[in-house]
Amino acid sequence: MIINPTPISIIGAGPTGALLAILLQRHGMRVNLYEKRPDPRKDLENSGRSVNLALADRGLHALIQAGVLAEISPALMPMRGRLIHHLDGTTILQPYGQKPDEIIHSVSRLRLNQILVEVAARQPGIEIYFEHSLEDADFRMGIAQVRALGQKRIIDVRMQPLLATDGAGSTLRKQLIRQKLIDAHEIELDHGYKELSIPAGTSGEHLLTPDVLHIWPRGSHMLIALPNTDGSFTATLFLPKNGAASFASLNAATIDRFFADTFPDVRALMPNCVREFSEHAVGFLGSVYANPWHYQSMAAMIGDAAHAIVPFHGQGMNCCFEDCVEFNSCVRRNNTWEAVFLEFESIRKPNTDAIATMALENYLEMREHVAHAKFQLQQSLALELEKRYPQNFIPRYSMVMFHHEIPYSVALNRGLIQSKLLAKLTLNANSLAEVDFAEAGREINSQLPPLALAL
Ligand SMILES: Cc1cc2nc3c(=O)[nH]c(=O)nc-3n(C[C@H](O)[C@H](O)[C@H](O)COP(=O)(O)OP(=O)(O)OC[C@H]3O[C@@H](n4cnc5c(N)ncnc54)[C@H](O)[C@@H]3O)c2cc1C
Repeated sequence: MIINPTPISIIGAGPTGALLAILLQRHGMRVNLYEKRPDPRKDLENSGRSVNLALADRGLHALIQAGVLAEISPALMPMRGRLIHHLDGTTILQPYGQKPDEIIHSVSRLRLNQILVEVAARQPGIEIYFEHSLEDADFRMGIAQVRALGQKRIIDVRMQPLLATDGAGSTLRKQLIRQKLIDAHEIELDHGYKELSIPAGTSGEHLLTPDVLHIWPRGSHMLIALPNTDGSFTATLFLPKNGAASFASLNAATIDRFFADTFPDVRALMPNCVREFSEHAVGFLGSVYANPWHYQSMAAMIGDAAHAIVPFHGQGMNCCFEDCVEFNSCVRRNNTWEAVFLEFESIRKPNTDAIATMALENYLEMREHVAHAKFQLQQSLALELEKRYPQNFIPRYSMVMFHHEIPYSVALNRGLIQSKLLAKLTLNANSLAEVDFAEAGREINSQLPPLALAL
């Protein structure tokens, strides 16, 4: 276990930085947390309108480890499945799992961040400096430059060590790349996103089913909506950046028609969509790959800074929270920071690469496959096989979302075997009654050994 005589510096008080500070403080470490934006607790106006995140088992497990779940629970809205909205107005519910606790939770990113920052600020030994931005890092001298934005002065921060949780656009990562100390690249999708809203009804009620994630899959584009505790929904429109129906071609004059034609059942519930479409910026979607994630014993990247992923599995933040728990375990097991960084990377990198792959695959699944009959049959079969072989066959989505004890890399590998099996078993079947379950049993017993599951 490391004894650090001086405070650790963390850059970025987003979900990862705030949770990491809380966990490290529990070891008796002192933490200086620098955040370039103003204190999120003062951002009351936006509290119902920030991007919403799906919080699942890995994230919940981390919040329990940090002792903060009780404070976050009131901000969570349970979601038990996806409600698919077809163009003709019909809907179909696809449950996420089949046990009562197999649900995920919608949470406003801003509200979650406000609570984590509030808990961190209460801990003795954690100092938070808002409006302090990392600008530069001198790795020969072991000193980072942080600008105090209000006071227009630069502070020298010793990297003893410096932990960068400054998100997908990480300044520390850019400095490490510029000084040729790591290899890193970003793969940008040719799609972007915009946040839109579905306000609450006149009595503050939800105007769509509140306990599901709504999806309007339309091939090359889609709309999703996640519930908020105040009766509203936060909707996200994913579109290609260029082409026929794209952010480049649609504008304030054409977006209304586009919505009426493409998402007719929800258009009337989105009175602000033309204004929001015009005013809101197009968000970046992409994956970040870096190697290594650290430099000597001075600095390391954790969370999106090291491995941002596309949001289509709802796992980015869950994965970052899992990072925090694993990093904390590495701190306990090692005596030097370099050993911590090396062990952390060796455990996490195969897993973050795996979830990056699965998140990209899920993009196609959400836009297209969810609407296909064969996909729906395979989903039903996967749930049936889980009932019959609960230790051996767990749908990949469930392994990722409901089983923090199954590493992402295991979920990816077993998921591949399972998807081939589902395709084979449904090749000539149109319903569960037509599936050859004897063959399914033989294949499962030979290819999928039992998993050690958390009770
Ligand atoms: C549209 C969308 C939907 C998503 N949905 C989900 C979901 O459903 N479930 C899920 O688990 N994840 C989801 N994610 C991913 C999730 O938002 C991220 O994985 C998570 O926010 C990463 O947390 P972080 O703290 O590492 O980085 P960030 O949230 O980016 O926080 C970084 C912090 O560092 C600060 N900072 C940046 N640069 C500096 C600097 N130079 N100096 C000081 N401070 C700095 C920033 O101001 C910020 O506060 C989604 C992402 C998007 C874009």
